[in-house]
Amino acid sequence: MENPLNLISFILYIVLAITAATLIEYFVSTLPPIDHEQRCSRCSSVTSRVSFGYCRSCSRWYRRRFPFLAAVSLVAVLLLATVQSSPANFVIGFVVSTYLAIVTLIDIDYHLIQHKTALFGIILAGFFGAILHKFPSTVVGGAIGIIVMGFFYLLGRVYAAYKNKRQKISGPDALDEALGFGDVSLAAVLGFLLGHALILKALLIGILLAGLYSIAIVALMLLKKDFDDSKTIPYGPFLVLGALLVFFPF
Ligand SMILES: [Zn+2]
Repeated sequence: MENPLNLISFILYIVLAITAATLIEYFVSTLPPIDHEQRCSRCSSVTSRVSFGYCRSCSRWYRRRFPFLAAVSLVAVLLLATVQSSPANFVIGFVVSTYLAIVTLIDIDYHLIQHKTALFGIILAGFFGAILHKFPSTVVGGAIGIIVMGFFYLLGRVYAAYKNKRQKISGPDALDEALGFGDVSLAAVLGFLLGHALILKALLIGILLAGLYSIAIVALMLLKKDFDDSKTIPYGPFLVLGALLVFFPF
């Protein structure tokens, strides 16, 4: 693509960054099921779910996520423009990064990867993966993702069943799974995108980082003397981070 410092391309990158931030803000605000009203943190009046952090009642910004997303998106777009090898790869990188940002932010806020979002990602990643790699590499990559995270998912279910039985918990309070099925779908998405050669490495890095983070959280809880083993961490962000580290070997 053109020189990233050219004025016209720079304006294009700003437009793309604002587009990405708008899509991310919109979907992160509307996709998760929310059973409570959203309120402005400054005047506490009820705001619309798609407010972009701006309150119409008091005419003030009560949350700065949108400008932050726009700034991060601009850095990401410039990085993508520098490393991409063709305009097609730039478009794929842009769409995929926007999608992964939506999944990651929802997983951080709600510990949730929804089936509809995962299914959309699998279709998107299968299509893009087939363009980026040869078709068999894409399919094998997706299969490796499903097998590896599927194994951890089943292990999590066995652990949850054991814990419920030991603590005699049943009904709605019972833990059904330690690792959500959404993480298995996300691993499939990443496997399609990275292909058979990189997915295993990406998952291992992701699992390792999630493990280190969990150890840090447990250590912190022990220090504060309020240990709660029902706390779970979202796995999605770590899997995405693992994929990014493998994809862009800095
Ligand atoms: Zn307000």
